[in-house]
Amino acid sequence: MGTGVEDLHLYPVCPLCHADLLVELGSVDCTHHERYSAPLSPQMHWRRCEQCRHVFRSGYYTDEANEILFRGTNENQVVGFDMLGQRWISARMVDRVLPFQSGGMWLDVGFGNGSLLMTAQEYGFDPIGLDLRQGTVDAMRELGVQAECMDFCSAMLEPKCSVISMADVLEHMPDPRAALESAHRNLVEGGVLLLSMPNMDAPLWHVMDAEGVNPYWSEIEHVHNFGRRRLYELLEEFSFTPVQYGVSERYPVCMEVIALRREPVVTP
Ligand SMILES: [Zn+2]
Repeated sequence: MGTGVEDLHLYPVCPLCHADLLVELGSVDCTHHERYSAPLSPQMHWRRCEQCRHVFRSGYYTDEANEILFRGTNENQVVGFDMLGQRWISARMVDRVLPFQSGGMWLDVGFGNGSLLMTAQEYGFDPIGLDLRQGTVDAMRELGVQAECMDFCSAMLEPKCSVISMADVLEHMPDPRAALESAHRNLVEGGVLLLSMPNMDAPLWHVMDAEGVNPYWSEIEHVHNFGRRRLYELLEEFSFTPVQYGVSERYPVCMEVIALRREPVVTP
């Protein structure tokens, strides 16, 4: 590391549609980011796929770079952070799921401060959390919630889940396709996939761009900038039906989408 590119696995093609028609969108300094430290590239390069219009970073961090990135944890992602305040936000997320699923296993991928799982448990769901950090998993278990240190993309859960939530997770993942495949594999028929992430199709995104205050171009933990349009296409491709759009209360200009698992269409 040091010259600025070896900390990334570069994408030779679009990570969503695998086309190689990529356009450079520009580079942004990310050295002011809280998680940034010196051996990581000081700039983030963004690209757009000309075939499917997906916008993504030139690459994703190597394991070695991730170790530097994860030396600390953002305060609001520590298990138990602001339990009383977060409970209100989590409850409104659970409320939106209830018309579609009202019990069974609720899996939260990358459960962060744990509030969503604790609140889902209050509502009568059986909560389980997956996280890549053992310390976070241990802290969640101490609060009496089942948690496993496991990569979601290779997970095979039994029984299957009635709800899988990925709140501010998909845009971090090197391969979002593998995550949606896993979500489909691990959900019951009609099960709920609850996703939240920034929405670059939102008018406010462009206002932030015009004013030069859009934080997401220098968010070093993000690999993708999804918009509602591209996300919905991707969901359809993986046999999910988006049924509800909402605005997330967790971070600025984020969407919160509910999609239902359906059986894949088998073409003869
Ligand atoms: Zn593409």
